[in-house]
Order: sequence, then structure tokens, then C-alpha cells
Amino acid sequence: MVQTNEPQTQDKSNGASTTPVPTAPAAGAQFSMELNEEQLQLQKWVHGFAKDVVRPAAHEWDEREETPWPIIQEAAKIGLYSFDFLQASFGDPTGLTLPIANEELFWGDAGIGLSIFGSTLCVAAIVANGTPEQIVEWVPQCFGTPDKIQLGAFGVSEPDAGSDVSSLKSRAVYDEAKDEWVLNGTKTWITNGGIADVHVVVLSVYPELGSRGHASFVVPPGTPGISQGQKFKKHGIRASHTAEVVLDNCRIPGRCILGGRERFEERAARAREGKSARIQPAMATFEATRPAVGAQAVGIARAAYEFALEYAKGRVQFGRPIIENQAIAFKLADMKTGIDASRLLVWRAAWMGRTGKAFENGEGSMSKLFAGETAVRVTDEAIQIMGGYGYVRENPVERWHRDAKIYTIFEGTSEIQRLVISRAISGIHIK
Ligand SMILES: Cc1cc2nc3c(=O)[nH]c(=O)nc-3n(C[C@H](O)[C@H](O)[C@H](O)COP(=O)(O)OP(=O)(O)OC[C@H]3O[C@@H](n4cnc5c(N)ncnc54)[C@H](O)[C@@H]3O)c2cc1C
Repeated sequence: MVQTNEPQTQDKSNGASTTPVPTAPAAGAQFSMELNEEQLQLQKWVHGFAKDVVRPAAHEWDEREETPWPIIQEAAKIGLYSFDFLQASFGDPTGLTLPIANEELFWGDAGIGLSIFGSTLCVAAIVANGTPEQIVEWVPQCFGTPDKIQLGAFGVSEPDAGSDVSSLKSRAVYDEAKDEWVLNGTKTWITNGGIADVHVVVLSVYPELGSRGHASFVVPPGTPGISQGQKFKKHGIRASHTAEVVLDNCRIPGRCILGGRERFEERAARAREGKSARIQPAMATFEATRPAVGAQAVGIARAAYEFALEYAKGRVQFGRPIIENQAIAFKLADMKTGIDASRLLVWRAAWMGRTGKAFENGEGSMSKLFAGETAVRVTDEAIQIMGGYGYVRENPVERWHRDAKIYTIFEGTSEIQRLVISRAISGIHIK
């Protein structure tokens, strides 16, 4: 059909209505699915690092189950692990910098990737809840320098408060005489917990207000009273450090409450009067980070898909490459379709978040839910395509399968993402 800017009416002879056909877009109105030159350069840059530095080291650090400090240092040297990179990411008007970087880095390895980008959750908490002065003071300290690497950690989960973050038991009490907060309690499953320089922890100040009585606090480097509890031995992402964080009469300056005490007290007063709630501290952090976490899952899935595709072309059984069987080729078709759909959901959510569009249908949760479950399914199919060769540690697909599983658990389990989406689309408090 010839495109014209004039409204058109359809022919009545076939029974169609006379509703005007939408006009062709005016010159200048643009929609593009293509990355721009800067984004392509970024993709290439992070991919190069993932391919040359991260992937070759992945097996070793997975087996060692230790934080890969030398690799974090390499990332800092090229500027990938830095305040400047994160600042540029948050400033990108399309919102795609973080998803692109995450997908490429986690294509290299998820355990190492999380060791490098694990500080981002802490940074997101500071940016989402802090004042401009707090952002400038604390965010650079989450990175340090290439010569002195520093890490950030974000702790909300507790032994009895996982999905239900409203039931936090750990407490923050304000000591007016000293203008200090006194923190007590145990946080669990904390990425970089205890080895981080900057910890942001979400604690209850007014337990009677539930999650509306929670606030986020920065625990500055070297503060007495914060320590690491047990370090967990995990199923996957084993290069990433996960541990308990114990707060035992940990005293921090009064100014370390994110957003300031005055704003927090105003919020608590509104809650007591039954007035509408703004978003809660932990939720503000997770809303901001879910698309990037979804992108990490896309990276793992893509790694497994690419590996399985090459294997299927080369592996001969019954006198022909196994990919010539629909049973195998269709698996690969479904894997690729799931990966591309995940990426589109991730990019949409990242773009919406950056351009201030409300997640009215839980779009942030959709991206993390779909990408996480796709990664589990794709890595599982990759093992199936490789048979016994996929099940052993000399090939990386078994590691990718173990790594993928965390994406249906952390930053909100799949069930919790479905709760968020179903509540958003129905307006009903689904349980
Ligand atoms: C490796 C790793 C790293 C982590 N990093 C961090 C971190 O840096 N900071 C941090 O704060 N936390 C972190 N976590 C914690 C993570 O976010 C929690 O494990 C997750 O939120 C689930 O909580 P839970 O483990 O207590 O499970 P539970 O909440 O006990 O859930 C158990 C099961 O019940 C389901 N369930 C619970 N409630 C409902 C419901 N209402 N409806 C339907 N199903 C429900 C869940 O979906 C799940 O399947 C990490 C966890 C791991 C394993």
C-alpha cells in the first residue's frame, strides 16, 4: 500500500467500517530496534573482556568458590568496574547500557560477573533512596580504585524474612544524645556480605508500621559491630561470595540513614495517619535492578544456546549431525526464541525505567521472571542436546545450568514476580 499522511477510509463493498486507517508516521517520528553506534561499541568492548578475560577464568573460580579479586581488578583497570562506568550507565537516556553490559559480561561467566557487578545492588540502593550528597559520598566508595578495589553489599534478607520483606526482625534505634543509629540483627544470603567495604542494610525502625517503618542505612567502611557470619557453599554462581552479615550493637552516624532522618520521620508519620505509601526502600532498589538482573540471565542462556548449537552441528550419530533431527533442531529454535523474547522484555523494562514510565503491568518483574525461567530451561536443554558430554565439568554447560537456577530465586523468586504482575494487572491483592 502506498503510504500517505492523508487519513484513508476503507472500501465499504467488503463490509469493512469507515473508520479512518491510521496515517503513516510523520517525518521525524522514529522507532528503531537497532542499537546505536555507542551501544554497539559498548557491546563489543564488554564482550571482548568477557571472552578474553572472564570466560577463560570461569572454571577455576567456580571450583575455588572464592571471590576472583584479580579479575575484578582487571575490570577496574579497563574502567568496567568503576563509578564512572556506572554513572554513564545511569545517565544513558535509552536505559540500555546496563542490560547490554550485563548480558555480555554474564555470557562470559555468571559467578565472576556477579563478583564484578554485585556492588551494583548496593549502588542502586543508595541512588534509589539517598540524597544527592549521600550519593556523591558513598557510591565511589563502593568501587575504590584499580589499586585498592572496594566492594558494596546490599542486605535486606533475613533468616525469617525472605520473600516477605515486611517481616524484618533486625532493628535500628536512634540514639538522640549521640546522634547515632544502633543496628542489631542478622542478614542472610548477602552477596559480598562481610567482605564489602560499604554495606547498605534495610532495618526496621518502627516494627508496628511493617515495611513502612523500614529504612536503609549505610554502614561505612571499618565500622565496628558489623561482621561476616557463615559463608555459604552454593549450587551455582560459586565465584560470587554469599554470606551472613551480623550487626551487633553496630553504631553509625545519624547522617547514614538514606534519604535523611527528617524525610523518614515524615514518611512514618504519614503511615501512622494511614496516608498513602510511597514505594518502600527495598522495593525501590529491586524495581531499579530487575531488568539488569534479567539481562544477566539472558547472557547465561545465550552462552549455553551458542555452545549447544555448535555441538549439535558437529556431533554425528546414526551417520548424520544430530541437528538434522527435528527433535534437536526444534529445541534450538525454542531456545533462541526464548532468549530473544527475554531480551526484548528486558530492554523494554530498562527503557521504561529510564524514561520514567510506570510499570503498570509489572513490566520490570515480567522481564526478570521470563528471562530467569528461560535461562533455566535453555541451559537444561543445552545439557540434553549434549547428552553425557553436557553433564560433565569439562564442558561449561553444566556450570551454566547451575548458575542459571539462581535467577528464579534471588531478587524476588518467580512466584513473587508472578504475584507482582498479577496484582498489577488485576488491581486485586492476590495472595
Ligand atoms: C546466591 C544468593 C544471593 C543472594 N543475594 C542477596 C543479596 O545480596 N541481598 C539480599 O538481601 N538477599 C539476597 N539473597 C536472598 C534472596 O533474595 C532470597 O533467597 C529470596 O528473596 C527468597 O527468600 P527465601 O530464600 O527466604 O525463600 P522464601 O521466601 O522462604 O520462599 C520459599 C518458597 O516459597 C515461595 N513463596 C514465598 N511466599 C510466597 C507467596 N506469597 N506466594 C507464593 N509463593 C511464595 C517462594 O517463591 C519460594 O519458592 C540471595 C540469595 C541467594 C541464594
